[in-house]
Amino acid sequence: MGERLTAARKRLERVADLVDVDPEVIERLYYPKETLAASLPVRMDDGSMRSFKAWRCRYDDTRGPTKGGLRFHASVSADEVMALGFWMTFKCALVDIPFGGAKGGVQVDTSELSSRELERLSRSFVRAFTGMLGPNRDIAAPDMYTNSMVMAWMADEFGAATGAHTPEVFTGKPLQLGGSRGRDEATGRGAFHALTALKDHLNIKPETSRVVIQGFGNAAYECAHNLFDDGYTIIGVSDSKGALFDPDGLDPAEVKQHKRETGSVVGGPTKGTPQEIDPDELLFQECDIAVPAALGGQFTTRNAEKVQARVILEVANGPVSPDADDLLDKNGVVVVPDIFANSGGVIVSHLEWVQNRSGYYWSLAEVRDRLEHRISDTAEELLKVLDEKALSLRESAYFLALSRICEAAQARGTKRFFS
Ligand code: NAD
Repeated sequence: MGERLTAARKRLERVADLVDVDPEVIERLYYPKETLAASLPVRMDDGSMRSFKAWRCRYDDTRGPTKGGLRFHASVSADEVMALGFWMTFKCALVDIPFGGAKGGVQVDTSELSSRELERLSRSFVRAFTGMLGPNRDIAAPDMYTNSMVMAWMADEFGAATGAHTPEVFTGKPLQLGGSRGRDEATGRGAFHALTALKDHLNIKPETSRVVIQGFGNAAYECAHNLFDDGYTIIGVSDSKGALFDPDGLDPAEVKQHKRETGSVVGGPTKGTPQEIDPDELLFQECDIAVPAALGGQFTTRNAEKVQARVILEVANGPVSPDADDLLDKNGVVVVPDIFANSGGVIVSHLEWVQNRSGYYWSLAEVRDRLEHRISDTAEELLKVLDEKALSLRESAYFLALSRICEAAQARGTKRFFS
């Protein structure tokens, strides 16, 4: 068993003691329902053949078809995919959408591939996993280094393999192919709504809050510009090439333009005089809110003492290790947990699935409104659990999610019913 799935299970063990849960539900959630490994052969532009390792894990389908992103990254492993599938299970239950959890990935550095090779790889993935995917079985979406175009190739390949038009097997598609308005912006926008809904509880005022954000991809940028528009001061951002930091602040739209032109945030425009910092130290700068929005495993027992922020908004999946939770808590740092903070993506993916199935498409305003409501309703429920049970935000989120999964399992009958 890998390190990341072990860490994910620790969260389950902690909350299992708090919920009156049937032990057989915990046993079921301890192991993924199914994980398929495959080797994806791809004809490269120079005529050679390369094989890429790939996995898809359907972690749990107690509450509905499994749902989860596909990641293309050199560090993808079976362990990571299973841990992410576990988190998706809890995320979908927390925000009460009728899905279980899944995740998939390919071990590849996409910067080494041409766009034609990327297309062949995406189509090869679908050929290997066609039997696992399906609109009522397993639904995929973009994640790190996959985007709407990858989803378009995959939906196309799935249609060719099955001889049917079922665009809802992939969410995050381009609008012209059945994508939902507002899907691209949903994760970052949802994170902003999550923070806003908890603002009073966290004692945050936008106009006096300084924010650092690790990452400047889809989720990070959308979160950054919504925070900026609401009056927060974004003092630092980073990407895989380096960081941009200025205590006087920066405008995310201007930085995005710079990244588009140069390929990185490094050297981008700021309001004052930019300061040189080690990108690995960005999340530990003096600030009010630290937003990990790129990679998992950023806060551990080795560095949690260095955190100066009052709040960590987990836009990435799994940026805080379970052991670091206790240290942060002891130091008064409040963590807005990933399964809530980054749930906007899967909330709007669900809306895309619904629109594809009904063949009727909503306006951007309708999608945004539904997203905001689902996040604020969840925040209300979270705060209620937090008050009643005296739990942390993360524990409250797992408590709510596990309670919902248990209710669905019990509705089919568990030992308590049969004995
Ligand atoms: P993306 O591919 O659009 O962006 C990834 C960003 O991370 C890039 O800017 C890249 O430069 C940056 N990065 C990579 N290595 C880095 C490093 N060492 N230091 C700083 N930055 C680094 O990906 P995304 O979709 O924005 O996803 C980001 C995170 O959000 C992931 O953890 C993902 O699982 C999570 N997430 C995304 C969605 C979604 O719908 N996009 C939903 C839920 C969770």
